[in-house]
Amino acid sequence: MPVLEVRHLKKAYGSVSAVEDISFTVEAGEVFTIIGPNGAGKTTTLEMIEGLQSPDAGQIEFGALNWSKNSEQIKVSIGVQPQSSALFDLLTVEENLDLFATFYPKSRPAAEVLEMISLTDQRDKHVKKLSGGQKQRLAIGLAMINDPTIIFLDEPTTGLDPQARRNIWDIILKLKELGKTTILTTHYMEEAEKLSDRVCIVDQGKIVTLDTPAALIDRLTKEREVRLTFLDGADAAIETEKVALLQPTVVRTNREGASLQLWTTQPEETLYELFGFTKDRGFRVEQISIREMSLEDVFIAFTGKEWRD
Ligand code: ATP
Repeated sequence: MPVLEVRHLKKAYGSVSAVEDISFTVEAGEVFTIIGPNGAGKTTTLEMIEGLQSPDAGQIEFGALNWSKNSEQIKVSIGVQPQSSALFDLLTVEENLDLFATFYPKSRPAAEVLEMISLTDQRDKHVKKLSGGQKQRLAIGLAMINDPTIIFLDEPTTGLDPQARRNIWDIILKLKELGKTTILTTHYMEEAEKLSDRVCIVDQGKIVTLDTPAALIDRLTKEREVRLTFLDGADAAIETEKVALLQPTVVRTNREGASLQLWTTQPEETLYELFGFTKDRGFRVEQISIREMSLEDVFIAFTGKEWRD
């Protein structure tokens, strides 16, 4: 059942059109991720849904509720991660949670939230003494203090080191286990691919594509990238490329010196044929790799832009 439905959202800042036309639904319990390049309109979209900005046009419905008629009910059922700069530096971790709890009629016990965000041992530490990752975890904790059903996380892992990012992934997965719905924006493809039930790619204020990570990758291509590097120099690569191009399953090739890159829909069959050829000719293969397509390949294919992770 959809917990959120967004239809034809639009927002401009003066002559800059930040959101052109965005529509999607989010199902209960899913991790729904919005990814896109800088300035694509992700934050503006999220802020309109969170009630922090009003759209120029379009509808936002949380089940039967909408901002114009049911703002108090919506506020208690959603959780918004504040920017870490909005944390109270001179208060402790637990005092920040207690303070945010007073904003709501009902809240989750701070001890439970501390456990979820793995900050129980830091509960008495002042915020200014926390690491970047700990501050981000606290910001997520503040978003869950009212025990919301939908949690919005806007780039929760930007600027964090890999371990700190993984700690945040663990929290998102715990929220999913609890049946919460998470709406996430991120710059990290790997993160979108690992955590999301569905991914929406936004570019220039519009949705370019929306599906599960696996379906997006599958829809783009069933190709695999195979790389062969020869010990016998460029000639071996040139000859093998000619043979590869004769195979119907090979979609295209690229060669740099002694290294041959090819895209095939049947990697095993292609390699079987090519190894038969290289063995006959006595060419020695130094390295071989087969790569699955990733969500990053999908992004590049749909937006025509390089990913800037
Ligand atoms: P990023 O990944 O860099 O955070 P984003 O996808 O979240 O980008 P938005 O922040 O929603 O994108 O911005 C969309 C467009 O609207 C950009 O061109 C941005 O410069 C512009 N914009 C955003 N906020 C404002 C504002 N308050 N006033 C004027 N223009 C704005």
